[in-house]
Parts: sequence; C-alpha cells; structure tokens
Amino acid sequence: NARASGVGNWSVFHSDMGQVADYRQWIESELHIAFDRGDFDLHYQPQLDLPSGRIVGYEALIRWRHPERGMIAPMEFIPIAEETGMIGPIGEWVLRKACSDARHLPEDCFVAVNISPVQFMTKDFVGIVRDTMASTGIRPSRLELEVTETAMMQDRDRAATILRQLAEMGISVAVDDFGTGYSNLSYLIDFSFGKLKIDRSFVSRIDTDASSGAVVSTIVGLSRALGVSIIAEGVETENQATLLRAAGCEVVQGFLYGRPAPLKIEFAEALTAREQRVANLN
Ligand code: C2E
Ligand code: MG
Ligand code: MG
Ligand code: MG
Repeated sequence: NARASGVGNWSVFHSDMGQVADYRQWIESELHIAFDRGDFDLHYQPQLDLPSGRIVGYEALIRWRHPERGMIAPMEFIPIAEETGMIGPIGEWVLRKACSDARHLPEDCFVAVNISPVQFMTKDFVGIVRDTMASTGIRPSRLELEVTETAMMQDRDRAATILRQLAEMGISVAVDDFGTGYSNLSYLIDFSFGKLKIDRSFVSRIDTDASSGAVVSTIVGLSRALGVSIIAEGVETENQATLLRAAGCEVVQGFLYGRPAPLKIEFAEALTAREQRVANLN
C-alpha cells in the first residue's frame, strides 16, 4: 500500500542522507588529522609545447593517501575543506610545497598551483603569496597560479585588484577550466591574466563533436585577441592533439603525455643534467 511504501521510501532516503552527512563529517575530521600528520602530497603533471616537444611547466595536484581508506580524490575533499575553512592551511601548504619543489624541476620550467576560490578571495592572499616567494626563493616567472572564472566572478573589483597585484609581482595567472564557468566575457577585459586553460570537456569531445572543435577554435582566437597564452588540459589521444594543433593550440597537458606523478628528486636532477648537456651542445 501507498502509505507504507511512502514511509519505506522516506526511511531509505533518510538513511542515505545520513550516510552522506556521516561521510562528510568523517572527511571533515580526518582532514585535520591528515594535515597534522602530513598525509598530503603533491603530484606533478607535465605541460608540453608540441612543436618543440619541450616540457614548459608542471601542474601541482594535491594527493591525500588515507592510511585505511587509500587515495581520496581532490574533488571529494577540496569542497569540504572550502566549507570548513581547512582550505586556508591546506592551500598555504600546497603553495609553499610547490614553490620549494620547484628547485628540483628543470630551471626553465614553471610550477602551476591550483588556487581555490575561497583562498583567492582571502584578505591576505597576496601577502601569503609574497611571503611564500620570499621564504622559498622562487623567481616569480617560475610560478603560475590556476584560478577558475567562478573564483574571480564572486567579487569582480576585488579579483581585478588581486590580479593586478599578482601581475605587478611578475606572477602569471591561468584561467582554469575555461569555457565552463561564466558566459559573460566582459570580465576578460578588466582582468590581467596571462593564460586561458581550455577545459577538458571540450578536449575530450574535439574528435567526435564538430561544435567542440568550433569552441576550441573560438577560445584560441579569443586568446590571440587578448594577447594571452593558451593551453589545453585533458589530452588523451594523438588525434585530439593533432586537432588542437590545427586549431592553433600548441601547449598541452594530459594522460597522453604524462599522468600526475610524485616528484622524484633523482629523476628531476637527471633531467636537469640532460637538458644542460643539450643546452651546452647548442
Ligand atoms: P584541475 O585543476 O582542472 O586539474 C586537472 C584534473 O584533470 C586533475 O585531476 C588531473 O589529474 C586530471 N587530468 C589530467 N590529465 C587528464 C587526462 O588526460 N584525462 C583525464 N580524464 N583527467 C586528466 P585531480 O588531480 O583529481 O584534480 C581535480 C581537481 O581538484 C583539479 O582540477 C582542481 O580543481 C582541484 N585540485 C587539485 N589539486 C588541488 C590543489 O592543490 N589545490 C586546490 N585548491 N585544488 C586542487
Ligand atoms: Mg588546474
Ligand atoms: Mg583545469
Ligand atoms: Mg579541469
């Protein structure tokens, strides 16, 4: 009967919601423990210039390996860290670690750091960046910050000020996941940034869906008109890379070229030495 099954449905629904709340709460408390215990790590994924084949930079991506539950994806815990304020200390840790890891990456590579909207809009964000640069000694040209459009649209005036201060410090900002957030493009004129990062959703469909190709070409044209650089994320196939190049996007990042991987100091030093030898030959 209807009434009984209604009650039954409710209780199922209710217990599911209870589980979601429990999991959320579990993440919240484990985040503190993990942070104090040092369970976070950064992995790095290369960004390549296709014509030369050269690695131009590495994106730092946070990894959380829980001792019992294993890997927990950023998309599962970053939103909760943002809600609870834990993104403050976690974000500062990411920035400091990436800036100090940069010394182990090839000298001519930059490190790209994801900045949460919450972090970006924090009152002392620019000060934190300045202090981190001073304490790690990273050159500003070697640091790039990845910020999403939505982060900057929350308060356009503030965002414009922060972006201008970062630009004055010589730090480049890339608009991450470009094309998925805000449809009003007028902000692009007010904001100082150096790069558009074409979202993976366009890249993944570029070889099957003509309109994705058109969107990519349009973003490339936009980047040229604005005088900023362009990169495509999530490149998985040779065909996607070929189409991106044809559309005018020559810098790429994706599983095809390298998965995010832990920084191997020995490897990085070997790489630097190899590049040095190549440079000496030229
Ligand atoms: P994002 O910044 O757009 O990073 C790209 C995501 O796509 C990463 O997932 C990366 O591992 C994944 N990816 C790269 N190449 C490919 C590919 O060829 N195919 C597919 N399917 N995926 C690819 P990840 O590491 O799980 O990070 C997800 C999101 O979490 C990031 O998106 C970023 O928004 C956020 N995030 C990651 N690390 C940090 C961090 O240190 N701080 C902050 N605030 N957010 C972070
Ligand atoms: Mg990113
Ligand atoms: Mg991205
Ligand atoms: Mg993305």
